Amino acid sequence: MTQKRLRTGWAARTPTFINICLVGNGSFTEEQERTFDERARYWMQRLGLPASAVKGHKEFPGQSTNCPGIDMNLVRARLAGQVADTSALSKNEKSDLKFTSGTLRKEFETFLGSKAQREIAVKAAVEAGYSEKWIKVLGEGRAADGDIVMLGLGALIRANK
Ligand SMILES: [Zn+2]
Repeated sequence: MTQKRLRTGWAARTPTFINICLVGNGSFTEEQERTFDERARYWMQRLGLPASAVKGHKEFPGQSTNCPGIDMNLVRARLAGQVADTSALSKNEKSDLKFTSGTLRKEFETFLGSKAQREIAVKAAVEAGYSEKWIKVLGEGRAADGDIVMLGLGALIRANK
């Protein structure tokens, strides 16, 4: 069992840290990484924390472990949007999209990683005339990232033509 901890260092009433626990050590499935990123981003947004507040088990004082056995700097960079967030995209459909703007890339990644924003895109698409099956597809977790992006764009285009 390994743990990654999200330290808040906040005063009374807020927890000192939030523990996000992943089963495994050194290597995690894509699904685990995606879920971890989603939860970490959620708490970062909710508590206004920078990626630097995300700590691996081994990074806490007094720990004699190499858990979680992965490079936490990469994890933090990914969370900060400093590197392409391939974990938000499934292995077979890594995005070829290029960005010259880091801000837009970050927004894109946030969009793909946000359940609420995905739902908004699909709902808008269905309202714009796309098949209602997409709501079901999304609910069952079968919608690919490309589908969602295009549904969101398509909704906008249909609404403005
Ligand atoms: Zn651990």
